[in-house]
Amino acid sequence: MSLKIPIETSARHIHLSQADFNTLFGPEAKLHYIKELSQPGQYACEERLTIAGPKNSLKNVVILGPCRPATQVEVSVTDARKLGLPSIIRQSGDIEDTPGCTLIGPAGQIELKKGVIVAKRHIHMTPLDAVRARVKDNDIVFVITTSYERSLIFSDVVVRVSPSFRLAMHVDTDEANAFANEEDPCGVILKLFDGHTYNLQSWAEELQLGINRSL
Ligand SMILES: [Zn+2]
Repeated sequence: MSLKIPIETSARHIHLSQADFNTLFGPEAKLHYIKELSQPGQYACEERLTIAGPKNSLKNVVILGPCRPATQVEVSVTDARKLGLPSIIRQSGDIEDTPGCTLIGPAGQIELKKGVIVAKRHIHMTPLDAVRARVKDNDIVFVITTSYERSLIFSDVVVRVSPSFRLAMHVDTDEANAFANEEDPCGVILKLFDGHTYNLQSWAEELQLGINRSL
């Protein structure tokens, strides 16, 4: 039986380094927990920040704890366009050569040189899930989503495997709206053609030409 993957929407959010947190909220400030997230140990905080770009700003953006080694801002393509920043799609933590922004907090502000990314869509899973789904860490797969009116297949989905993860696919607000299933968002992995649309296109073209490569 195929593995049914719950799909969760990540709204825009910020991960802060301890030093940047203290610049923005004050040397004595502490993060205040409000809600646990699906990935063990990750939580949403009460503290909010404003993200300012060359064109516009986004207020009241949530911070996720705990603090990390480097500050990272995760937005959707729509958000990046509003801010006036290029949309650079990256895996979390891979922030070299990404745009920066200004972060404004109650006690100070920071000119971030890099760290604004549009998160590459991904699936968190345990090693056991990976065996069941016949995938491994960093595999690229397709995910077929369920929706009554707007099903779609996501390509270029990266699989992340760790014993500390819980099974969930993470998409941003643009991606979630695109397949419009608010009741029971879930998907199934299709591991073909290395998960890249380019290879699927070549296969479709070959079929048109009467060539039927076995899958
Ligand atoms: Zn995630």
